[in-house]
Amino acid sequence: MDARPPLSFEFFPPKTPEGMARLREVRTVLAAFAPEFCSVTYGAGGSTREPTLATVLMLHDAGASVAPHLSFGGDDAKGVERLLDSYRAAGIRRLVALRGDLPSGVGGSAQLVHANELVALIRRHSGDHFQIHVAAYPEIHPEARSYADDIHWLGQKFAAGADAAITQYFYSADSYFYFVDACRAAGIDRPIVPGIMPITNHESLVRFSARCGAEIPRWLQYRLAGWGDDLEGLRAFGIEVVARLGERLLAGGAPGLHFYTLNQAEATAAILRALGWPESA
Ligand code: FAD
Repeated sequence: MDARPPLSFEFFPPKTPEGMARLREVRTVLAAFAPEFCSVTYGAGGSTREPTLATVLMLHDAGASVAPHLSFGGDDAKGVERLLDSYRAAGIRRLVALRGDLPSGVGGSAQLVHANELVALIRRHSGDHFQIHVAAYPEIHPEARSYADDIHWLGQKFAAGADAAITQYFYSADSYFYFVDACRAAGIDRPIVPGIMPITNHESLVRFSARCGAEIPRWLQYRLAGWGDDLEGLRAFGIEVVARLGERLLAGGAPGLHFYTLNQAEATAAILRALGWPESA
């Protein structure tokens, strides 16, 4: 019996029917690795309410256990409760509860609601129906007042009823291990699952990392830049780097791996194969 910890795969809602059909194929390829669940992101400001719901239902119908991401977005509490009821009626048992970010250009009455308040609302409205995951930041959320303060608020998400955390991606295993130690010291005893971002494109990774506060170590930036236009070389190197990271995380006791697949199967599958993950035919 294989004692490997659970996997989960994150997807975003495709914008077109062709994208949806491609995602169905991607999920079929990745299903061979027997993930515990797939999650589907929710656009800032509630901008993907319908596409997220449609993607969740497509994956659910295809036999996956699905965790929709959820934030207040542009909704009030009643709107969030309606969405919770739709998910419950569809047979969904897991959620990823987030504050989200304001889409650029949105001002005025749009408001961010902290994830601990959303978790409390979900528990008030839906009781124990959903298993709730929340976000955690080994390199600390960009708006955090301090390292300790960010861990305090993570603790408040668990106090409100969250079951597990999934981290922002990172490329330094130590940032994760020190973070987990600090969480344990602060009394947080729930699973903190590392988020894994495959490396497939240098420029977009740099751009996205700057926005979400994930650090690409200096040595890695130089190595990635060195591949220039050689995408194949970059991808092979990226698989090696991320597989080694995964190996260290698992050896150090990570309770699972959550892949930011970017709706692509190849890199995630290659990393799992490099890790020797069992795959059904
Ligand atoms: P919070 O937990 O609310 O924290 C935000 C900041 O406020 C932190 O600095 C924290 O220290 C502080 N804080 C927390 N609670 C309080 C409080 N009660 N009072 C005062 N300060 C507080 N974004 C999307 O738009 N859609 C997605 O689908 C999505 N999925 C994600 C999945 C994962 C696994 C991760 C790690 C991130 C995801 N994000 C997503 C990004 C996320 O929405 C942003 O990082 C956002 O800025 C913070 O969300 P949060 O839930 O961590 O917020």
